Amino acid sequence: MEKKQEEESAKAECTHHDNNVELGFIEEVDDELLLTNQFFPSKVGGKPVWLDLQGIPSAASLTCKNCGNVMQFLIQLYCPVDGESACFHRTIYIFCCRDGQCHQRSAQDCFLVFRSQLPRNNSFYSSQPPDRQNPQNSYDNSLLTKWCSLCSLCGIPSEKKCAKCGTPYCCRQHQVFDWKHGHRENCTSAAKTPIFASNDYLFPQYDVCIDDDDEDNDNDDADSKSDHPTDSKLTGENYHDYIKSDLANQITEADIKSVEDHNHDEEFLEFKEKIRLQPDQILRYKRNGIPLWISSKDIPSSSDIPGCSCGAKRIFEFQIMPQLLHYLKIENSQTSIDWGILLVYTCSKNCLHNNNDKSSNGYMKEFLWRQNYSSAETKS
Ligand SMILES: [Zn+2]
Ligand SMILES: [Zn+2]
Ligand SMILES: [Zn+2]
Ligand SMILES: [Zn+2]
Repeated sequence: MEKKQEEESAKAECTHHDNNVELGFIEEVDDELLLTNQFFPSKVGGKPVWLDLQGIPSAASLTCKNCGNVMQFLIQLYCPVDGESACFHRTIYIFCCRDGQCHQRSAQDCFLVFRSQLPRNNSFYSSQPPDRQNPQNSYDNSLLTKWCSLCSLCGIPSEKKCAKCGTPYCCRQHQVFDWKHGHRENCTSAAKTPIFASNDYLFPQYDVCIDDDDEDNDNDDADSKSDHPTDSKLTGENYHDYIKSDLANQITEADIKSVEDHNHDEEFLEFKEKIRLQPDQILRYKRNGIPLWISSKDIPSSSDIPGCSCGAKRIFEFQIMPQLLHYLKIENSQTSIDWGILLVYTCSKNCLHNNNDKSSNGYMKEFLWRQNYSSAETKS
């Protein structure tokens, strides 16, 4: 995993870290070029930035099993594996259905996870690190058009084109949406938006920065925040709403106490205690580590995690936290997209392709387990 150099050396002195979980945080995008292919980004929302430019999952393989619509890109994480030359570059992608109704169903219907990896020497990228100080030096605007044709609305492989101007789309639905939201006016005009540009159809786009877990470090300043609801009673239900609100950055000792009085789910209490010092974390990364459960219900047994198609077992790699929901700016209703935590399990061998299906070479399907807040109504 990538880290800021200076922070890395500072953290190295904290020897009492026994688990070294890496945490992911949202950052506003300050240079969109740094989120393009040559920079191997970790990011939320916008269009997916494909690592391997061949064998990209098609619209047909990215449809929701419930409603049949093309899923939307949620997050990608750049997570090379040290010591494995085939994984010099490695990115994991999560897609989900945009329709909250579909999230009432099994997570297997409305989420998809793909893993892609490349050795240092490959057909698409320089073997030298990109120039982050002067991104223009490393950005190549012909790279994508050379290898693939992607939907101008959502960034997955295109199968249709605007008859007048040739703008590519993955499906008729996206073509119609784009036509109604600006393409009608811009169709024949020469001004083309950059291929990586985000738009209102997609989830809002953010940079994801990765840092070491600081949860053993007790010098938090959360208590000093003034606009904090001191008398809130954060039980399971309203903690859920709370974490999605702006106030989630300011959980205090008093809140934790009030939860303890109202909730007896051990896992839930540990969850809140663990994230208290870094409440805005959207991701926890520890390959082959142990997830931080949000509830004592719906903890998968080993038989719930299917093996990889190559025959190897899958291991836990990272989890998405409920805090991400807040940044997605989804309206909060009974039927909106929702989760407690999303756990990603990947092939322990980082296999390159399924023996029976060479066409999937490039992007291997991995497994996602959803754990909801403790309540009886949904199962993962
Ligand atoms: Zn759906
Ligand atoms: Zn599309
Ligand atoms: Zn057009
Ligand atoms: Zn495998």
